[in-house]
Amino acid sequence: VAPAASIPAAFADTVAARPDETLIRYFDGALSVSEVDRLADATAVALAERGFGRGDRAVLYLQNVPQYLIAALGVWRLGGVVVSANPMYKARELGEIVADSGARAVIAMESLHTVVTEVLVEHPTPIVVTTSELEFAERRDGVLSSSARINCPGAVPLADLLAEYAGARPEPVAVGADDLAVLTYTSGTTGPPKGAEISHGNLVFSATTYRDWIGIDADDVIFGVAPMFHITGVVGHAALAMLTGATLVLTYRFDPVDAVETIAEYGATFTVGSITVFIALMNAPNATREKLATLAKIYSGGAPIPPSTLQMFDEAFGHHIHNIYGLTETTSPAVAVPCGRRAPVDARTGAAAVGVPVYDTVVRIVDDAGEDVDPAESGEVVIAGPQVVRGYWNRPDETAAAMPGNALRTGDVGYFDADGWLYLVDRKKDQINASGYKVWPREVEDVLYEHAAVREVAVVGVPDAYRGETVKAFVSLRDGARVTAAELTAYARERLAAYKAPTEIALLDELPKTASGKILRRTLRDAGR
Ligand code: ATP
Repeated sequence: VAPAASIPAAFADTVAARPDETLIRYFDGALSVSEVDRLADATAVALAERGFGRGDRAVLYLQNVPQYLIAALGVWRLGGVVVSANPMYKARELGEIVADSGARAVIAMESLHTVVTEVLVEHPTPIVVTTSELEFAERRDGVLSSSARINCPGAVPLADLLAEYAGARPEPVAVGADDLAVLTYTSGTTGPPKGAEISHGNLVFSATTYRDWIGIDADDVIFGVAPMFHITGVVGHAALAMLTGATLVLTYRFDPVDAVETIAEYGATFTVGSITVFIALMNAPNATREKLATLAKIYSGGAPIPPSTLQMFDEAFGHHIHNIYGLTETTSPAVAVPCGRRAPVDARTGAAAVGVPVYDTVVRIVDDAGEDVDPAESGEVVIAGPQVVRGYWNRPDETAAAMPGNALRTGDVGYFDADGWLYLVDRKKDQINASGYKVWPREVEDVLYEHAAVREVAVVGVPDAYRGETVKAFVSLRDGARVTAAELTAYARERLAAYKAPTEIALLDELPKTASGKILRRTLRDAGR
């Protein structure tokens, strides 16, 4: 069978095959495949009547709620483009994305109405729809916020549109593999945010990779912990559920204790998220082998897995955390460990491989001149394959620089072993130069993670009058653990060459993270200056 050209086309097959199965669970609420189908149609008709059509952009400024899937499908059915916006954005950040994408519609949480109202003053947008986190929930305790209906001036509530257009069907629009499906903005660490142009072909390929590489089918239950505005959430949760008919369990926001109960209650079988999520799960007081028994397909991406965490998780729960490596620009997965396999460990570093390139994907390791390095040498990772995006929205220069000849320069440093497993060393720009000695923060972090008192670590280079740069570690401790910075420094010095050991360790209650759970080395580095 030829693969569908788009996720809405793939979802049409799921609707035909299993209309009555549950597609989404959300705080005791459940939506079947056909209910999501009808709600998406109603959304599409409502948007179309307000002038939204092929190629138009709709900013989704939402948490992980069922409306994300409903709105995305509605937009796609009209040939439109979903622009994902992080619900943690403030007005300046949201405004940049609304303006850069030239959005025709904004679909936002009611609870974020103050930000939206502020943005609309400067960037008037023809269609504004708001929705509540309570809309599809059956349970309203603790986790969810207020039930008061709040709206921005000129906005229409999604609930009203769904009621008004119930049963309506939009005019079919042909959506091809090359059509744009999603704009996902990079976090803008190196200038204004850039929208990675994810086509329907990219999305179908990546969701299919998740399905076949990991082995996901309609009987699976996906625990949807990755944020939906991040490419991992769009592909590994929303698109994967639509493609396979697997049930997607959404929890609005991640709370470790609640997550353990939810996984146990619904028998979640698969999840993909950031390693900090799994560290938090491991440390949750209610986490037991029994409660996490069904969760055998666990994938961690976005940041390195400390070897000690991998081992502790294995021992505590009998489940292996599989690595998956990719970027926004590779529509999530490019390299991954096949499900059920354990990646080999490099004896020199103790680090596990991140995997092998997925289907039809070519990964090269190049030097600064872009030439292939010798086998087993490390260099910059370059990725080419059907998941690599065509470019950045309206930014030909940045596109040409980042992906010459459609091969993406990742900025990550890695190497292959003789069997074709890829190992990542670190990010090129995070390398520390201490008196001319090059230090990879990751190696220092891995050593500190081995200390029993340590919960999370980030290592950065900070300016030093004598050495140019020096190694600084920021550490948060496990609950109840007692250790001093001096003891941790001594621990690191015993295990690392003097120039690699941190000259300073700061103990923090929490390390700053992105909304997808990645520890923000950059913020710590700036704070350390
Ligand atoms: P920005 O939005 O500024 O681009 P970002 O680079 O963190 O932020 P992503 O595209 O989400 O955005 O992250 C991709 C990066 O995450 C990779 O370049 C790599 O450094 C890191 N990464 C992804 N998966 C893994 C993994 N399995 N192991 C180690 N690092 C990983």
